[in-house]
Amino acid sequence: MLEICAIGGYQNVGRNMTAIKYNDEVVILDMGLDLERYIAYTEDEDPFSISSRQLMKAGAIPNDSIIDKWKDQVLAIIPTHAHLDHVGAIPFMSNKYNNAKILCTPFTAAVLERISIDDKRPINNKINVLSENSNYHLSKNIEIEFINITHSTPHTVVVVIHTPEGSVVYANDFKFDYNPLLGKKPNEKRLSELQDVKLLIMDSLYSDREGHTPGETWARDQLLKIFDENASKDNILITTTFSSHISRLKTLVDIAKRLRRTPIFLGRSLSKYALAAQEAGLARFEDECEIVRYSGKVKRAINRMKKVGLSKYFIICSGHQGEPKATLTKIIKRRLLELDNNDVVVFSSTIIPNEENYRNREELEGDIKSMGAKIFTDIHVSGHASRDDHKKLIELIKPSLVIPAHANEEKTQVMIDYCKKLGVLSKSLKEGDFFTL
Ligand SMILES: [Zn+2]
Ligand SMILES: [Zn+2]
Repeated sequence: MLEICAIGGYQNVGRNMTAIKYNDEVVILDMGLDLERYIAYTEDEDPFSISSRQLMKAGAIPNDSIIDKWKDQVLAIIPTHAHLDHVGAIPFMSNKYNNAKILCTPFTAAVLERISIDDKRPINNKINVLSENSNYHLSKNIEIEFINITHSTPHTVVVVIHTPEGSVVYANDFKFDYNPLLGKKPNEKRLSELQDVKLLIMDSLYSDREGHTPGETWARDQLLKIFDENASKDNILITTTFSSHISRLKTLVDIAKRLRRTPIFLGRSLSKYALAAQEAGLARFEDECEIVRYSGKVKRAINRMKKVGLSKYFIICSGHQGEPKATLTKIIKRRLLELDNNDVVVFSSTIIPNEENYRNREELEGDIKSMGAKIFTDIHVSGHASRDDHKKLIELIKPSLVIPAHANEEKTQVMIDYCKKLGVLSKSLKEGDFFTL
C-alpha cells in the first residue's frame, strides 16, 4: 500500500516536507525551512539556543509530529536541492530519525554540511552522496532514482521512488532550461522512460504563469548588456544576487574578467555557497575571485579596495531583498562607499513577495538613488516552471495522479483546474493530510 503524508509546503509556500510510505517503509522528501518565519523568529533569539520545538511552534519548520508513529520506519531523507526551503530544517529535525540516511547530490551535501557546521547542529545521519542521474537500492522493495533537472541552484533532481506497486515522482522545484549555463540539460529521455507513475508531486508555484520559463541565458545577456553599456574606467560596479545561484555567480565573475576587474564576493552567505560549489567541483571561485567571508571584515576589505582603486573591482554582495543586516544595506546605510551618478547597482534578483521585503527594498533603493547611482532591478529569470513546463512534465511521465505542491491555496486550485483541462486526475492536499493511493 502506498501512502503519502503532506507534512509541509502544501497550500503553503515554504517548509517543504513529504513522507511516502510503502507498507512498513517510509521515505521523507525534503525537510525545509519557512524562511520568512525562521528569519523573523531567529532575529530576536540566539540561533544557537533555539530548540526544534520552538521553531515548530513558530511555524519555521514542518510539523512532523503527525508522522511520529512512522518515526522508526523512515529509511531515507532526500532533499532535492540546496535551497533552504528544502534542506534547511534537516539540522533541526533529522537526528530523531535514527534509522534514516540522507541521500542527496554533491552540491546539496556540501551546503548541508556547511549549514550544520555554521549553526553548530551536528547531523548524526549518514549522508550518502549520489550523482544527478543515479539509482540507490534502499531496500528490497524500494529503489530511489535521481533524474537531473534544471532550477536556480545546481545539482537539482527529480526524485523517483520505485516500489512494486508503481512509482512516485517528486518534482519540487524545477524548470526546463534547454540551454543551462551550468550543468546538464534536463534528462527528458529518462523522464519519458518512466513506467507506471502512480503519483506526480509537482512544484506549482507559478501555476498561473503562461508559457515557458525563460532560460538562464536571458539573465546573462541582460547583464552583459548592462555592464557593456555602463562600465567606465573609473566607476563603481555593484551586483547583488541569490547566494545559491552558482550559475549566476559564474556569469558575474566572467563579466568582471571581461571588464578586466577583480571580482570580489562580500558576505557570509555568498562565501558559504561559493565554497560549497567549489567543494562540489562546480566552480573555482577561490582562484578567480577575492572572497571576504565575514561581514565584520567587509569594511576593512573596502578600505583596501579604495587604496587599489574601486574601479579595479567588480563587487558581488548579498542583500538583494534589502535585508537590514545584509552587506549591501550596510555598504549603503553606513556610507562605506560613496556612490555618485557614474556608479551602478544591479539587483540580479526579484523581490520575494512579502510586505517586509517590499519595504526594505524601497528604503534601500531610495538611499541608493539619493546618492545618484544608477539602479537596475529584476535582472533575473525564475527557477520555477510555468504552465507549458508543467504540461511538458505531465506529458513526459504520464502520471495517474498529480498533487500540486509549493503553492498557496489559490495557485494550488489553479493547478487543479489546469490538470482538469489537460485530462489528468489531480488532488489537492493541505499540510497534515494523509492520502492512500
Ligand atoms: Zn528551489
Ligand atoms: Zn523551493
